[in-house]
Amino acid sequence: MSTQSVLPFGAEEKKLPRLIESLAEVCRELPLDEKVLIAPSRFVGHQLIEALVRSGTPWIHLRVESVRSLAHSVAGPAIAEEGLTLLSRAQALALIEQACAETLTSTSYFGELASRPGLHRAIQNTFDELRSAGISPTDLPEAAFGDPRKVLELKKVLAVYEAALERGKFVDRPEVLRRAVKALRESPRTLDSLHLLAGRFELSAAERELVDRISGGRLRTLDEDGPQSWAPNASRAGLFRALGEENEIRELLRRVLAEGLPFDDIEILATDPATYGPIVYELTQEHGVPCTFGDGIPATFTRPGQAALGFLRWLGRDFESEELREIVAGGLLDLTRICPGDPPGPIPAARELREARIGWGRERSLESLDRHVAHRAAEVESARPRSEEDEEDLAARVEWLGERLATAKAVRDLVRRLISIAPEEDGAEVELRAVARSASAFVAGFVRIAGDADAMASSALQGLFGELETLPVTRLPVAQAATRLTDAVRSLHVAADRPRPGRLHLGDYRSGGYSGRSHTFFVGLDSRRHPGSGLQDPVLLDEERRGINATLHPQELAMRGGRPAENVLAWKSCVARVRGEITVSYPCWNLLEAREQFPAASYLDAFRLVSGRSGADYSDLDCSLDAPAGFLTEPSRALDETEWWLSRVQDPAFSGGRGAQAVRAAYPWLEDGFTAETHRESDLFTAWDGWISDPAGLDPRTSDGSTSCSRIQELARCPYSYFLKRVLRIKPPEDAAADPTVWLSALQKGNLLHEVFRRFYADPAGVPLRTGFDRDWERMKEIALEELATWKTKIPPRSKAAFDALREDVLVACRTFVLREEAHCRDVTPKWFEVGFGRSRESTDPPGGPEPVQIPLGLGERFRLSGRIDRVDEESPDAYQVWDYKTGSSWDTADPKRGRGGRRIQDALYAQALEILLARNGRPGRVVKSGYFYPGRRGEGERYAAPLDVPATRQTLTALFDLLRAGAFPHTPTKEDCSICDFGKVCGSPELAADRAKAKLENVSGNPVLEPYRILNPS
Ligand code: SF4
Repeated sequence: MSTQSVLPFGAEEKKLPRLIESLAEVCRELPLDEKVLIAPSRFVGHQLIEALVRSGTPWIHLRVESVRSLAHSVAGPAIAEEGLTLLSRAQALALIEQACAETLTSTSYFGELASRPGLHRAIQNTFDELRSAGISPTDLPEAAFGDPRKVLELKKVLAVYEAALERGKFVDRPEVLRRAVKALRESPRTLDSLHLLAGRFELSAAERELVDRISGGRLRTLDEDGPQSWAPNASRAGLFRALGEENEIRELLRRVLAEGLPFDDIEILATDPATYGPIVYELTQEHGVPCTFGDGIPATFTRPGQAALGFLRWLGRDFESEELREIVAGGLLDLTRICPGDPPGPIPAARELREARIGWGRERSLESLDRHVAHRAAEVESARPRSEEDEEDLAARVEWLGERLATAKAVRDLVRRLISIAPEEDGAEVELRAVARSASAFVAGFVRIAGDADAMASSALQGLFGELETLPVTRLPVAQAATRLTDAVRSLHVAADRPRPGRLHLGDYRSGGYSGRSHTFFVGLDSRRHPGSGLQDPVLLDEERRGINATLHPQELAMRGGRPAENVLAWKSCVARVRGEITVSYPCWNLLEAREQFPAASYLDAFRLVSGRSGADYSDLDCSLDAPAGFLTEPSRALDETEWWLSRVQDPAFSGGRGAQAVRAAYPWLEDGFTAETHRESDLFTAWDGWISDPAGLDPRTSDGSTSCSRIQELARCPYSYFLKRVLRIKPPEDAAADPTVWLSALQKGNLLHEVFRRFYADPAGVPLRTGFDRDWERMKEIALEELATWKTKIPPRSKAAFDALREDVLVACRTFVLREEAHCRDVTPKWFEVGFGRSRESTDPPGGPEPVQIPLGLGERFRLSGRIDRVDEESPDAYQVWDYKTGSSWDTADPKRGRGGRRIQDALYAQALEILLARNGRPGRVVKSGYFYPGRRGEGERYAAPLDVPATRQTLTALFDLLRAGAFPHTPTKEDCSICDFGKVCGSPELAADRAKAKLENVSGNPVLEPYRILNPS
């Protein structure tokens, strides 16, 4: 890196920009007069003065002002004397939001859009224009508006906003300008200073009047290179295109580095800084290139910005722990504030937060964490040596448990302290300023700062929240308050700066090109971005603006439809004022949407000048440009290691054309992945598909333990998922986070209903077993409501709506149950309920028992089965029916194909199990029917019972257990099986997994180990 050249505008280029020349002329002509340079902004003004210095022109008595700083200098003393406070844009926006909330209803003109932040900002901009033009709410002419409701609403909102300003003793920017103009009208200036307007930049009518009046007749507009003089510069431009915006900036940086250009001799001017700013920021950060940003960088790119957004989401979503977990896991918090000596790492802390299974809620958060800490402490206390452990192993395990306990305590302290700074709700509402105070305390006290940008963002965020704290009391729901502050954080930019030595600079072409740097890159010259659409202001259409101008003859309101033409002129003016080398580029491909993008008309104009072909069209341009810059480049121009590898891999000379092999040799994990994928892609069943070499203990026919119907059905549905879950014991992360509109999970709801149905028949013992709707409905309802209340205490619902929805579902299921039971019980008598056997944690009262049942498979083979039968009905003294309650839909069970291959085997197995249990209890009996009962809303009370076929069941079980004995766990060939699987992320695409599984099953001779699964899943 070098410092900027002393000779400005490139060593070869002697000609100064006309603006600098004319400023130099004035300084030479009137060296001792006081001169005030009025620039579009102070940043631009300082750049002009620096350029003047570098041109070798001596100057004295020259100072820089902007229109805003001039207005403040005039109106400021009176504002201070009256004790008024100047509002920031964020504060003014908050008042406008409040004015809209008070004024607009859902049926009014702007009502439907009232909650959208975009509307508030649009209204703010329009009000600024109206107020700058001296138009008060009462002035708005109704005749200028097509819909009378619109003008009435604008008047009302504007009046409420102005009343809030007055009440709070606030002034906003238009008011400062208005007061300054008024003061100058009343007391005209007779100053000696010469005011110099830095070119013909855009001024509103009020600003123009301020400039005219403050100069007291001594105003000179400096000459500049106007848009008409852009051609000589543009004709020297270099042109390129790139595959997407990121590659456009990558190519730019490659050129800078390849040519050894000093960073501080380069200015990047974008048509769309909102898109290019983040890309330039990320790439320059990644590659350690120092850079200044004219518009600053979004605060949300920094740790404090991201942490503040997470904190606001946490507050807004009723302390949803998953939101907090994300900011903890992201390393956004400074945990030394909680544990100064030995803070836990972010990942262990996030894990404890997840394992505390909080879910949501202020009280729940603290209770769950207390419970979790007690659980961790008990783990430490109760640690005993395991059979395979020696003392050293035990000590290591206890130490590890102790660390987890310490982390859990730290997390509890963190959450306790965060909750202590959270705003107190009064009813369902909270003061906006209280939420701002909380957010400010959070940023100041908990957020990690790791660099200048973080420090600046932290201070800017505290400033922003501090400003919002000073606003009048506004009460609103917490979620809404959090959304408003979130929107303010998203709009916050930090570290806006002018070009500095040693740094690249990114700016907007409308306010750029004044730095005097020798290399200017114009980026984003595609037709979508430039010159922009002529979309009108939705709050005040051009037609309405014309009507207002014609009626009131105020200082003119600008038309928005003319923006594209103005942007073209602004771009040409910028090209005209820069010196040195120019490069113009556009992204020709939209990488996100995978579609082509076309160059802007201005880009074609530049091409015509560069090529000297004034009649050239877009196809000439397309033929003449080089191939778009992309992710691949020459190795010598690579920005980083990834680009270097990519460039080498495509080079046939590299590694004898075996570039991919070289990459894999350099990265062994890639090699492993490649090997695995190659085997999965083949039609041979391999270790990478789920074939293990040591399946000892997995086959229930020879193992000591028992198995269950759900395990067998899991194996039948997809052996690979069984392998992940039951053999490797992989668990998907359990998120306590939940949809706020849903109270209980499907499993919890099923448990609740099972308990209701059990109590209906079995509790208290001796209730009538033949159901009658008229007699029993009220009792059933009472049981259901009691169970709902029990669950409500255990797991408080997120909202009343969530509770009501589930209550309704439960009552519908109960009503269906009683209605269907009335008919069903005409033929049978309900006999036993929740009959557990083996490992079941349910009742093991007779005919159940603590011992598993031994299910014979023929040829002397058998296996041990544990389980729980929901319900046994007596048809006759030795004939029984077995029923399983299902709370979902019946389509899965009723479809004979879905039961294929053992996916539905519980009915058959429970029928055999009951017969064994009855015999064991000395009262032999037959099961004549076994099936499923669907009382839930989606099951509509259906019953489904397939014919019992013992030989077929044995054949299916033998095939499944043969797979276990062989250690073969293929993926399912039926992609529908994946729809209820938790391991979708492991397998990627269900279609791909199914296609590969089919290919392996079809390879009969290559994969004999899959024969049992082939029998169960014929193609
Ligand atoms: S996603 Fe599909 S293939 Fe993969 S484990 Fe689950 S069910 Fe099997």
